[in-house]
Amino acid sequence: MSNYSIAIHGGAGTITPASMTPALEVKYKEALQRAIETGAEILEGGGNALDAVQKTVESLENTPLFNAGKGSVFTKQGRHEMDAAIMCGKTLRAGAVAGVYNVRNPVVLSRAILEFSDHVFMSGYGAEEFARKQNLAFAPEEYFFDALRYKQWSEVRDSDVFMLDHTAGDEKFGTVGAVALDQHGNLAAATSTGGMTNKNYNRIGDTPVIGAGTYANNYTCAISCTGHGEFFLRAVVAYDVSCLMEYKGYSLQEACDKVVMDKLVRLGGEGGLIAVDARGNIAMPFNSEGMYRACKTNAMPAVTAIYKDEVKVVS
Ligand code: ASP
Repeated sequence: MSNYSIAIHGGAGTITPASMTPALEVKYKEALQRAIETGAEILEGGGNALDAVQKTVESLENTPLFNAGKGSVFTKQGRHEMDAAIMCGKTLRAGAVAGVYNVRNPVVLSRAILEFSDHVFMSGYGAEEFARKQNLAFAPEEYFFDALRYKQWSEVRDSDVFMLDHTAGDEKFGTVGAVALDQHGNLAAATSTGGMTNKNYNRIGDTPVIGAGTYANNYTCAISCTGHGEFFLRAVVAYDVSCLMEYKGYSLQEACDKVVMDKLVRLGGEGGLIAVDARGNIAMPFNSEGMYRACKTNAMPAVTAIYKDEVKVVS
């Protein structure tokens, strides 16, 4: 069998052992494990990276534990407004969607944009109309309701405060993403989010912006980011990692460390990313307290981790 690698995240933020219960930790790790096995099975069977990252992100979107799809946070208007993107490293084709309501799996919509439209990026009503034409699943408002997220939002709803959902109070949740290298040597990345708690409606973060929160290029790497989107947008994080590899000959780990642990920190941007390169190396750097994450390769069973120093790099 040729090599394959996959890495996933479920958000980064102030995630510490003190803010967790053992039972909740088990729940997160089980959800991460389920998601990574979903993608790994596709890769193991010779499937392509694009399918693997899409299906993996769908699995994460379907659990209320994470801030994407079903678990999306509340906007200032008390609604769930979602962003997602997917990119193929072989063709550099991409699909992205911003500010959609009631779409059950925004990553599926981003894939449909990649496959069946002449566009890369759609937003709001037009994107929803496209989803309907593609017969994609919608869900009523109640599907996205979560009591804990409602509580988080209630605490800040009358203010201008908006925050990473996993940094809010004691509840830790997060944006989701997956990156993969398949056995045919192709890379892909996908990311999906409800954004930030109490965000202004129509605010768009880094997640769906190709080159900021999501990027894939067979020549370099596949990246999915999580963190304070405004900073990731300004730092063009995902593409910056790829550029350091392409133009400066950095290794994946060097490029990730430069961007996440140096450039972003100097800018004040909290968060992290997951990355895989064309040789199957994986990096999962973050400058926050924790990041829900997991990885697996053809040569290594799945590893899941939440806090700093739990697991570092696999190559
Ligand atoms: N990056 C996302 C955003 O700013 C939030 C997150 O990663 O949790 O919309």
